[in-house]
Amino acid sequence: AVRVRFCPSPTGNPHVGLVRTALFNWAFARHNGGTLVFRIEDTDAARDSEESYQQLLDAMRWLGFDWDEGPEVGGPHEPYRQSQRMDIYADVARRLHEAGHAYECFCTTEELDARREAARANGLPSGYDGLCRTLTAEQQAIYRAEGRQPILRFRMPDYTIVFEDLVRGTLSFEPKDVPDYGLVRANGAPLYTLVNPVDDALMGITHVLRGEDLLSSTPRQIALYAALAEIGVGSGATPQFGHLPYVMGEGNKKLSKRDPQASLNLYRERGFLPEGLLNYLALLGWSLAEDRDRFSMAELVAAFDISKVNANPARFDLKKCESINADHLRMLAPEDFVQRLVPYLQAPGLLPAEPGAEQLELLRKAAPLTQERMVVLSEAVDMLGFLFVDPAAFAVNAEDAAKVLTADARPVLQASIKALEELADFTPEPIQAALREALVEGLGIKPKFAFTPLRVAVTGRRISPPLFESMELLGRPETLRRLTLALD
Ligand code: GLU
Repeated sequence: AVRVRFCPSPTGNPHVGLVRTALFNWAFARHNGGTLVFRIEDTDAARDSEESYQQLLDAMRWLGFDWDEGPEVGGPHEPYRQSQRMDIYADVARRLHEAGHAYECFCTTEELDARREAARANGLPSGYDGLCRTLTAEQQAIYRAEGRQPILRFRMPDYTIVFEDLVRGTLSFEPKDVPDYGLVRANGAPLYTLVNPVDDALMGITHVLRGEDLLSSTPRQIALYAALAEIGVGSGATPQFGHLPYVMGEGNKKLSKRDPQASLNLYRERGFLPEGLLNYLALLGWSLAEDRDRFSMAELVAAFDISKVNANPARFDLKKCESINADHLRMLAPEDFVQRLVPYLQAPGLLPAEPGAEQLELLRKAAPLTQERMVVLSEAVDMLGFLFVDPAAFAVNAEDAAKVLTADARPVLQASIKALEELADFTPEPIQAALREALVEGLGIKPKFAFTPLRVAVTGRRISPPLFESMELLGRPETLRRLTLALD
């Protein structure tokens, strides 16, 4: 049975690269009827934070992912936070040491740096040179007496490591390119290099799908797997690996997690739909079909095939991401669209925490005017905010107002007020007809100019949902009040 894992470290804010990795693991698990393990790699006390852990959980829920084992859901391999598994790692480290798969290395950072420099200068490989591989007990005792604290270092085997990458095909690594590496710090803290494969082995992970940046650790991990199998840790089977392509950002540079454009929060705040964002992120390395780049998560799961992932770097294209999101917005059922708008109107206080029935009714009527033109939900603030602002506090956008509501606008506003006061039926078509008659025919103003002051007076902006519909939504008294206020 397929068992995959998503195992982020809780450092900083979740970013789009992480989300893509989660998505591909989730889709792979669901497509294959497998198990998704969600594990928290929080062994680096200096960098990990509880806040970041909570953000990860929150992000996973918001994105709509479910997991079969992990935080909040438990599972047969608890605990799923590595910070709570330290005893396990200490035990495995001891056994690796005893079996000769790892050794104590007493080299100081300064010594290592100096030798690395020298090797580089001579054009030699600059990884660990194996100096402590063959220390005798006496030499170790001397080092200890000097007060040196050893790290535990893995003894790489001397054979070529070959594996079939699910994305890249056959890869092979020569021993000279994969030097011995640290497993446990001098202070006893286990490193990613140890805890990640140990847990993958103990949790029976069958497929490791992760970013290309981790490719260099794969031969090390495969060698460690063999050692773990020998000492009886885990099932003894080595997982299959698939390395997802790099994501390139602006200027064709690798999108780094510190890049503001990479922050998941940014997409949430702007009002991307989870399904829109995920649809786009799926395209970073994968495609459903040549002629289809819009799809639902169900369609993605049904079609997902890791062997179809492209090894070439994928370019993050914000415009395309937005246009895909706009399509997903348009596909929402009207009531669903309304419900998704609500939090974005609540955020700046345009709607209260518990919107009243009247406010929701107004939103239901207004939403269809915007659904076709919205790219992200936060645009609701600009497009629909005018409906919810307390009339007494209603203030037009100062810049637009200054430009548009000049002395020239006064006769326009006055004539409009008069026409609308007299109007029998306050609905869009009669409103439009009456205003045209009053302004275009009556005052001889070109239609292009006639309505701009009205739009700014009523909605506070030069760009708004259709004007006559907006007036209807506000109702006559409120419309007139705003036109009058604009005269002041
Ligand atoms: N905790 C590691 C990271 O966040 C996991 C890497 C892996 O998938 O092996 O990069």
